[in-house]
Amino acid sequence: MSDNDNTERYMCSKCGYLNIWTRDEILQRGREIVYRGDNEDVYSLRCKNPKGCDQRMRIAVKRREK
Ligand SMILES: [Zn+2]
Repeated sequence: MSDNDNTERYMCSKCGYLNIWTRDEILQRGREIVYRGDNEDVYSLRCKNPKGCDQRMRIAVKRREK
């Protein structure tokens, strides 16, 4: 399994928490899609900081050809 290909990681711009999302986790957030493109969908994901943080980050996920 290729780590680069299956996870998204980014630093929250508000609290600095390192968010790590697997592709599967993101795809389960179907309701949080803010934009559907031809080749990718953009999700608005809430910060995972366990202390609580309401910052949202927009993450583009490429669709996979099957
Ligand atoms: Zn945060």
